[in-house]
Amino acid sequence: MNKKTVIPQNQPDLVADWDTLFRVFIRPEGQASRATLIKYMDRILYGLNNFLKTHVGITEEVSLKELSKNFTDTIISDNPKRKLADVITCLIKEIAPYAVNVASPYFVGHMTSAIPFFMVHLKTIIAALNQNVVKLETSKVVSVIEKQVIAKIHRMIYEQSEDFYQKHVQNTDSTLGVFVEGGTTANLTAMWAARNAKFPPKDGFKGIESEGIVAAYNAYDIERCVILVSRLGHYSLRKSIGILGIGNQNVIPLKTDQNNRVDIEALKQTITRLKKENSKTCILAIIGIAGATETGTVDPLEKLAEISVAHNTHFHVDAAWGGPTLFSKKYNYLLKGIKLADSVTVDGHKQFYMPMSCGMLYLKNPKTLDVIAYHANYVNRRGAVDLGIKTLSGSREANSLILDCALKIMGAKGYALLIDHGIETAAAFAKEIKKRKLFELVTPPVLNILTYRVCPPSIQKKLEKANEEKRRKINENLNIVNRKLQQIQREAGHSFVSRTTLVQDNNQDDTIVVLRSVIMNPMTTLAILNEVLDEQEEIFKTQLKDLLG
Ligand SMILES: *Cc1c(COP(=O)(O)O)cnc(C)c1O
Repeated sequence: MNKKTVIPQNQPDLVADWDTLFRVFIRPEGQASRATLIKYMDRILYGLNNFLKTHVGITEEVSLKELSKNFTDTIISDNPKRKLADVITCLIKEIAPYAVNVASPYFVGHMTSAIPFFMVHLKTIIAALNQNVVKLETSKVVSVIEKQVIAKIHRMIYEQSEDFYQKHVQNTDSTLGVFVEGGTTANLTAMWAARNAKFPPKDGFKGIESEGIVAAYNAYDIERCVILVSRLGHYSLRKSIGILGIGNQNVIPLKTDQNNRVDIEALKQTITRLKKENSKTCILAIIGIAGATETGTVDPLEKLAEISVAHNTHFHVDAAWGGPTLFSKKYNYLLKGIKLADSVTVDGHKQFYMPMSCGMLYLKNPKTLDVIAYHANYVNRRGAVDLGIKTLSGSREANSLILDCALKIMGAKGYALLIDHGIETAAAFAKEIKKRKLFELVTPPVLNILTYRVCPPSIQKKLEKANEEKRRKINENLNIVNRKLQQIQREAGHSFVSRTTLVQDNNQDDTIVVLRSVIMNPMTTLAILNEVLDEQEEIFKTQLKDLLG
């Protein structure tokens, strides 16, 4: 950060006293101060946007190490250092350029992207209202709006009757869904409910939530609990099972078929094997993925539901990414069977295009979350209707308002346009990758995520003929090249794809490094993706070719 700065670093005339305090708390009365506040909002909304557009690619060429040197001051200053106006200017000119321009259409590597501009307005409204949805006393109407918007998404997923929704939408005993921080906490909430439902209170036992794992296993004569999910399951599931005391090694990764969907035969065999190894093993949940984080693939949800019913186990669908695909009349068939799930995770900050951060969990049965209810004397009293009774979070923002408004502004069709664009652009991108000799398409897109890698034709031929050992060697070389390629492109700052490591043929020892791209920005066109590929070809030709010998 060697740029000359015009922003005063320190303004000795600034003091913290009651006069200034009143000024920051009291609403601006006069015309002049109103104008100032509006000017600030204008700078945030347009200044930031324009600045990023004209000055920044994806990131500036400066290493994190170098950057961190500028942030080593650990003392809170006694007196104020800057005025709001200067703080805003500083954020726009000095900080934003070194953040990541996730809104760029060339940023196609992660599940974070551009959001509609109105989201910034909605977020501002949420901050201005500052409701706390943990309890009615600090949110009132927002709590009923939340129940309504939850019912809307529930209806999109579960397609119950109008009668069902009229009965439950505002019913204080029904929980059709909850807002949480993200997919991680949604998955955790689902596993929490599944665990508590398996070990409920009974004679001489007050339930697992109260007495803990050891007492629960004793009371129910169980020695081990497991959850079953494809090896592409999100790591938040392991976190959840760890936190819940089940032990994260009991998340059993299942083989996938050649389309990266969970292998149903492998699932059945695993269940048989587990029961045979120890008849006191309990299957806590079977999980289907609707949009795997790495490959975007969707598990055969109907079959998973069938097996879950047969084994009387909780069926959870992790649709953190793929959930909003249901908006698309053209592609919602890809999530067929999702309505059979006992619970479904959907992220707001992914394909609902909401600002960070918002996750949701939906429940087929409005009573499912009763097993995680908590009460306190000053809030969430027994018999109360506060939404905080059945959420992991305590205080939380009114994200439901953002979603409710966004649904009104976009309409289901607006969201469907985004979904269709992502899926169709990813398909066109895959075609282009196949056309180019330098690349190998590794996981074709089902939704809007695909992976590929650099693998020149000569090497592809060698791979086909090679025995296992030789193949591994070649892949190791390719891995180095693809890793470097991604890094060079990222550091150049024009475009960004991410990279991940995929297991080949379910063989843990045979891994390949792939480039991963996620197409969700409506401004990302095939032409832009071709530029991304062009740049990669250029990087390979000029800097990496020799590494392959
Ligand atoms: C993103 C994602 C998660 C985690 O969600 P966060 O919002 O990052 O906590 C879980 N599962 C899947 C399939 C995801 O794509």
